[in-house]
Amino acid sequence: MLTNTKEKIFVTKSYMPPLEEYMQYVNRVFENAQLTNNGPLVRELEEKLIEFLGIENIQYVTNGTIALQLALRALDIEDGEVITTPFSYVATTSAILWEKLTPVYVDIEPDNFTIDPKKIEEKITDRTRAIMPVHVFGYACDVDTIQKIADKYHLKVIYDSAHAFASVYKHRPLVTYGDISTLSFHATKLFHTVEGGACIIKDEIVKKELDLLKRFGHNGDEHFCMGINAKQSEMHAAMGLAIFPHLYEIIDKRRIICQLYDSLLEGCVKLPKKQEGLEYNYAYYPVVFKSEKELLRVFEALKKEEIYPRRYFYPSLNKLPYLLDYQPCPISEDIADRIACLPLYPALDLSIVEKIAKIIKTTVDN
Ligand SMILES: *Cc1c(COP(=O)(O)O)cnc(C)c1O
Repeated sequence: MLTNTKEKIFVTKSYMPPLEEYMQYVNRVFENAQLTNNGPLVRELEEKLIEFLGIENIQYVTNGTIALQLALRALDIEDGEVITTPFSYVATTSAILWEKLTPVYVDIEPDNFTIDPKKIEEKITDRTRAIMPVHVFGYACDVDTIQKIADKYHLKVIYDSAHAFASVYKHRPLVTYGDISTLSFHATKLFHTVEGGACIIKDEIVKKELDLLKRFGHNGDEHFCMGINAKQSEMHAAMGLAIFPHLYEIIDKRRIICQLYDSLLEGCVKLPKKQEGLEYNYAYYPVVFKSEKELLRVFEALKKEEIYPRRYFYPSLNKLPYLLDYQPCPISEDIADRIACLPLYPALDLSIVEKIAKIIKTTVDN
């Protein structure tokens, strides 16, 4: 008898399209016998993404981390400092470090966890080359103020938009701000292609440069520059194309879950304050507890029911052990200690959401 085995609930669960819909695309790949090198499915997915997101161009690559690295390279940021946020997934910082650049951390806004533009200018030196903010959880950075600072100091802006797929800010897709915006289509993200990522690029020349960089820097027998391999495969595009028709349904289900959490958790945990003018994509459901102790107590209570939220993002990246120096960011460090993301994915049953909220309510300090 298996009556006592509960399904474990994690913070997310990859969206699986109907198998027969996926197989239709796989069949096409088999018929074409072209597996990679800018094949027809990759091109079809790019076109669909352009239309769905309301953007003008996109370059689909193998993951969101290499997208950030290609962005730095395509903008010729080869040495110096990059101003970034300590409150993100580790890939934002590792992309900078991997390119042998120095991350300079600017603390975050306490209400929506994005980089605090008021604190950027004081960190600019004659070695600063770029600003790499993150639209963390799909919330919008203060894009106008950041652009003004970038213009004043002649800096490039690369947005890590890994969470910002389909978020709209001030009537513009969030991914259209900055010189380059990058996406991640990792299996855990709102829209995924198993692994995958993309760059959305403003400038025509930079676009061409990145297109070369991602395929070894050559075109046939003509070699232009040193490149790397970030070409995405047809099999990955097949997953994206199979998920594509379900995108509205995916976002809708997430919205319903978020709204239920909102109504049940109001007043018992701190919920982020979204910016005016943001049409949210419901990518994550972060809550801030009063203390780390309270968070750990809630985690313990949920674990008894086989429910596992995640400490996104923890630790604050300025505290990574392999950094050369410690740059204090008190707000990010404080938030990182007591924030968690609650389970959120289309297949999540609303009764589980109610159960999670009830456990949280009865476990937090009043
Ligand atoms: C997921 C993620 C990345 C990395 O994307 P991959 O596709 O996994 O390489 C980068 N930045 C942020 C903020 C992310 O959440």
